[in-house]
Amino acid sequence: MVNFLIFGPPGSGKGTQSIKLAEKFNLTHLSTGDMLRAEIAAGTELGEKMSSIMSKGQLVPDEVVIEMIAAKVDSIKGSTGFLFDGFPRTVAQTEELEAMLNDRGMKIDRMLVLEVDHDELVRRLITRAEISGRPDDKDPAVIENRIDVYKEKTEPIIEYCRKRGIYQPVDGMGTIEDIFRRLAGYMKKKL
Ligand code: ADP
Repeated sequence: MVNFLIFGPPGSGKGTQSIKLAEKFNLTHLSTGDMLRAEIAAGTELGEKMSSIMSKGQLVPDEVVIEMIAAKVDSIKGSTGFLFDGFPRTVAQTEELEAMLNDRGMKIDRMLVLEVDHDELVRRLITRAEISGRPDDKDPAVIENRIDVYKEKTEPIIEYCRKRGIYQPVDGMGTIEDIFRRLAGYMKKKL
């Protein structure tokens, strides 16, 4: 199996592109954000606990997302590989993911990082709020907090992956189709 991380700040287009890429390459798309929102929608105890953290734009505890991902990784059969979206978000999550994959004879094969200007990120999230109704997209202060959390807690993963020789920056500006073609081009080289 070939495993990819799709990476980038909030609003960089990870979710949109992941759905298209997973379909094109028969990859299993795993989004911790989607999994957490499904917990909230189902009204579970976990969802209830996580929803206030998420609406403030903070990260939920590492153990919560690691457990969710581990359960999924073991339940999927017959896929070309995984496309991890919004996970890992901390260096600790990255170490856990590597260990989890290594235990199963796999690794992180490539990290694709979408690069998008700050003002464009904010514009995209504000537009998305109207369609998604996501509380964390509505409030400009929460958006700025999510971008700050990304810089502080998530961006250090880039250095971690660079050292392993799996880091691939990708221009995330332009149309959805343009960005899709760029990402697909890099992924094809690994498949
Ligand atoms: P975005 O569109 O901002 O990238 P996601 O849909 O991936 O957002 O995630 C929404 C929220 O869910 C995050 O702001 C965070 O509170 C929580 N979350 C999602 N994935 C993780 C993770 N791997 N670790 C911690 N918190 C997470």
